[in-house]
Amino acid sequence: MLISVAVPVPNLDLLTYAVPDGVAVPCVGARVVVPLGTRVVTGIVVEVNVEPGTAAAKPIREVLDAAAFVPADVVSLARWTAEYYAAGVGDTIPALLPPMARGGRADAHKTARMAAITAMGHEALSGDEKLTAKQREALELLAGTPTGLATAVMATRGIAADAISRLAKRGYISLRQERIDRDPFDRGQVGVGVGSGWGQVGVGLGSDPNLTPVAAVASLSEAGRQLTMEQGDALVRLERLAAARAFKVALLHGVTGSGKTEVYIRLSAAVRASGRRVLMLVPEIALTPAAAALFRQAFGERVAVQHSGLSDGERHDQWQRIRRGDIDIVVGTRSAVFAPLEQVGLIVVDEEHDGSYKQEESPRYNGRDVAIVRAQRAGALVVLGSATPSMESYHNAMTGKYERVVLERRVLDRPLASVSVVDMREEYAAEGPDVILSRALRDGMQARLERKEQSLVLLNRRGFATAVFCRQCAGTIDCPNCSVSLVVHGEGNARRARCHYCNYTSRVPPACPLCAGPYLEQAGFGTERVEAEVKKACPEARVARLDRDSIRRKGSLASLLSRFRDGAIDVLVGTQMIAKGHDFPRVTLVGVVSADVGLGLADFRASERTFQLLTQVAGRAGRGEVLGEAIVQTLYPDHYSIQLACRQDFPAFYDREMKFRTAMRYPPMISLVNAVVRSRTFAGAMDDAADIVDKVRLADRGLRILGPAPAPLGKLRGEYRAQLLIKGMNRKKIREAIQSALAARPELQRRVVVDVDPLSVL
Ligand code: ADP
Ligand code: ZN
Repeated sequence: MLISVAVPVPNLDLLTYAVPDGVAVPCVGARVVVPLGTRVVTGIVVEVNVEPGTAAAKPIREVLDAAAFVPADVVSLARWTAEYYAAGVGDTIPALLPPMARGGRADAHKTARMAAITAMGHEALSGDEKLTAKQREALELLAGTPTGLATAVMATRGIAADAISRLAKRGYISLRQERIDRDPFDRGQVGVGVGSGWGQVGVGLGSDPNLTPVAAVASLSEAGRQLTMEQGDALVRLERLAAARAFKVALLHGVTGSGKTEVYIRLSAAVRASGRRVLMLVPEIALTPAAAALFRQAFGERVAVQHSGLSDGERHDQWQRIRRGDIDIVVGTRSAVFAPLEQVGLIVVDEEHDGSYKQEESPRYNGRDVAIVRAQRAGALVVLGSATPSMESYHNAMTGKYERVVLERRVLDRPLASVSVVDMREEYAAEGPDVILSRALRDGMQARLERKEQSLVLLNRRGFATAVFCRQCAGTIDCPNCSVSLVVHGEGNARRARCHYCNYTSRVPPACPLCAGPYLEQAGFGTERVEAEVKKACPEARVARLDRDSIRRKGSLASLLSRFRDGAIDVLVGTQMIAKGHDFPRVTLVGVVSADVGLGLADFRASERTFQLLTQVAGRAGRGEVLGEAIVQTLYPDHYSIQLACRQDFPAFYDREMKFRTAMRYPPMISLVNAVVRSRTFAGAMDDAADIVDKVRLADRGLRILGPAPAPLGKLRGEYRAQLLIKGMNRKKIREAIQSALAARPELQRRVVVDVDPLSVL
């Protein structure tokens, strides 16, 4: 009997192995240990009873599971993902397995030694038995905890192991080994792992202020709260779709602050009541605690979290709980789309337009699109939620492929923020060329400070200065490995020049390395500079910065967000990280510095991204009682994505952008595949790319190919990059053509990246 096995090795396709006589044939989804070259690896059975190939199949070494370890439908979803995104099946395996299962130690659960008081112990306490003070303290502690306490917890109260073993010897306490699931909700409690073992989870959720980041959620869903008319109508329509128990995609297009989350929760309750389960996807790890807390409050312990920010142990335990069927609702990021959840009736993809759903390494899948395929196979409803839907999803809604459900107003009739545009050219004329914060923005922040309200200031560019250039030879200080200039971080002695792509770091030289000229100048600015400017403009304000640099330390993101929420920060400066999802009721002003940062990029989605970012960040203002205001600074006040974002006119933006996509033939009008060839030399990259272009043309004359051309990011981490963009009406045909071209050049496999439905073509 032959079986197909997927092993977690990049680029590898399915492998065929033999099941020796006398060994029970494993089922699809079971783990098997197989020889691979000189190694043995753990793989997943993908198919049984396959036809023999030309080569003799090696026998498997061991079957690890009698039943499916990964549900069969999730295995088949992974197979679909590999095929659609032109990746090896092996690439998708890591997404299917909990971290520790790869080595075969699936059941390596953390256990704790639990102590509980016995009847004899109770007697000893109340009688006149001879006990030391410590022993008495231990028994009293246990008497108050009928289900028992972990000995590790007792140790934190000063009760040592020998006192415990003496009590056990005298029969006053019993000891047992208990499996505990590490609960990611328990971070910040006594050591990871001792929380759920003794029935504390859920009790403190949402009410215990020490439970950051979970408790750092101001707007917990209030059960029984009156839905708005719009929410009610949307819910009725979505419930009807869910009740049909047939595949359907609904686009929930709701302006920022329209209460989409409340709709997700009520819809989930209905689906759960019908005996089915729910997958809730959010784009960012940072947004999972808030979403998970709301769902936990509504559904208690049968909610699990899956994202890559959890420790291996936590992720493993949560995975096992889902697999055992102890979970009805999974909240997680992209890879949670592969959660081993059965009987899925609803998949919610919140902020469906968000680029974080796309994985930027193989398999380059989009979690939203895999979610749709999963729902299609499960006969489930997908709800794509967004205030700024992707062009693809909105197009599908307009053509009737998706159901369109609209929330046009904010809850409680709160108006959208009023948006004004500041033309920075006028500002430069009035205040000089170095001005970063316009007068309107400075005055606005000052006014908020006096009224004890908060401001957000967005600039989607990190660092202090974005380039260093020489006044003598006009040269810039560039990364030696990448075709970009280095970004200056820090000031004074702490000043460093860093590459944002490969992390190369050097000091800022005192003179030009090219011409030795002494006049080096910093140009451009990033969030660090804006932070400094805000401090200068509002010296008494408490200012903080939120970007990838400021949250390096684990836990610092959650603490920053909760300090802002608690009012300990007046002005928060940051990158697009501050634009997403968060609900800060006290923010009444949002400033956007250089709204046009993204417009200069050679990417067909530049306008769409700019529109989304501006609309989303403006949506952070005025979510409380007080009217919100947004001030948008730009050098291109007439650009349609800026104009229409300021008017928050999504339909007009969609129409305008579709004209561009149609004329230039870009998605969603056509399908796109991006292929990038890397090489040590520029000529090598271009030659190989040209060869692939020829072979693709040969394979299918109906395709339109752009390139070969140097990629916009022409050199990255020491390698040159050439690019070809393939356009066509039929994605499958494009994929087949590129795959047949690559099959003719197998030695190129490691140097070519194929990206199906790319989000970025840089
Ligand atoms: P969105 O995700 O659409 O931007 P949220 O779901 O964050 O909006 O909701 C915005 C705010 O309105 C939240 O603070 C939420 O608790 C609150 N909210 C939602 N629905 C209602 C309602 N029916 N009545 C009162 N407040 C609501
Ligand atoms: Zn670099």
